Amino acid sequence: SGQTFEVFTLFPDAVAGFLRGGLVGKAVARELVSVHCTDYREFATDRYRTVDDAPYGGGPGMVMKIEPVVAALEHVTALRGPMHRILLTPAGPRFDQRVAERLAALPRIGLLCGRYEGIDDRVREHFVDECLSLGDFVLNGGEVAALAIIEAVARLREGVLGNPESAARDSFSLQDMSSGTGPEDHEAWLEHPHFTRPPEFRGLGVPEVLLAGDHADVARWRREQVWRRTWALRPDLRPQRTLPAEAPLYLVA
Ligand code: SAM
Repeated sequence: SGQTFEVFTLFPDAVAGFLRGGLVGKAVARELVSVHCTDYREFATDRYRTVDDAPYGGGPGMVMKIEPVVAALEHVTALRGPMHRILLTPAGPRFDQRVAERLAALPRIGLLCGRYEGIDDRVREHFVDECLSLGDFVLNGGEVAALAIIEAVARLREGVLGNPESAARDSFSLQDMSSGTGPEDHEAWLEHPHFTRPPEFRGLGVPEVLLAGDHADVARWRREQVWRRTWALRPDLRPQRTLPAEAPLYLVA
């Protein structure tokens, strides 16, 4: 049984167009995932289809009105059933791989995209289950955030990726990198680097071990790379530990 995303937006065609391509498009074609886009504007009540208005208290910009947003939510809920409602906002907790894993278990997810200065705050307080931010920067709208979340969540669903092992090894997935003698130790890591043909490009080679064809050596090298890269590039993933400087890191686990 597939997972459904309900995207609420003023730009349904742009969102739907993007999702037709790539792995999500294939997952939709194979009915592993479905995505519906709903235009707030269709739920505006006046003859000009107004979805925004000036902010109470004055100041620049416009605010998305509560009535079309709630009407769109309630219409889709009545039509296709309840969903876990997520408001995209820079003020929310940051989306990451742990959140993606949690969301991947849900059957129906609603993603509410704001525009202008954002949506009337009563929506956040009373009509959604959680808020999420893509990061500490401001986009013009929630659509890019919704698309990022759909991609990150859908690829964790069974059958969406060709090889299920690939998601398990991806960066930020929880892996046991302990030595195998102690307790298991599931933490987030960066993946090892990848190379493909040709073996030399403008004098640039690839690591010998990958060409030699010894699977155990390759596994050992990759494991070391996971350690090194995580510590070198993302020390914040291991704040509680210190990096053993230049030792063969796979021995230090
Ligand atoms: N005035 C708002 C503020 O300063 O927090 C920013 C509004 S932004 C221009 C318009 C919409 O883009 C927001 O309602 C939200 O849906 C979306 N958006 C902007 N930045 C985002 C982010 N980092 N994560 C998720 N959504 C974002």
